[in-house]
Amino acid sequence: MTLDEIKAAVDAGKTVYWKSEIYEVRGSDGQYLVVCTDNDSAIGLTWQDGVTLNGQENDFYVKGSRHSSRFWLASNGDLCKDDETCEIVREKYAYHHSTIETGKELRATLRAGPYAWPGGYPLFIGSSTGESAHFECVKENLSSIIHDLRHSHRFGPMYCEINYENTELYCDHCNKKIESAYGDDDEEE
Ligand SMILES: [Zn+2]
Repeated sequence: MTLDEIKAAVDAGKTVYWKSEIYEVRGSDGQYLVVCTDNDSAIGLTWQDGVTLNGQENDFYVKGSRHSSRFWLASNGDLCKDDETCEIVREKYAYHHSTIETGKELRATLRAGPYAWPGGYPLFIGSSTGESAHFECVKENLSSIIHDLRHSHRFGPMYCEINYENTELYCDHCNKKIESAYGDDDEEE
């Protein structure tokens, strides 16, 4: 939606959301805000220039016009319905599985990102045959890795681990160093 379309819809009493139903555009007296209905914090709909949208045009939509943003990711990694039921649609949608035995678990682990939470420690993906890889490198080779995982050609189960202090850990895909939490990383890059 363009800025004019958003304003017109709000003025006409329609409910306009940004990205998900948690963020609602509200207007009064010519002032328009994007309000987080979770905690009532708000930002202006536009920058101070009054014409530059805070956000992308296609992230704004009128209530009922879109179905793609009915889900949200809970802090425990479950994908939930974005309504009052908060029903879990997929458990552990983004979740660091310490042992990875299926493509689903691998995808969920990659979705959760290359840093442990809490703590922010760097993670890597390992195989039971001793190979190690960056998250990014696993993503780039995802289909063949899932194929191997499924057929146990090269790997048994894989695992996701924190690299606390191994400064000599290298990725078997790109041959670059894998970041460590407490090791001396001075040589990196
Ligand atoms: Zn790599």
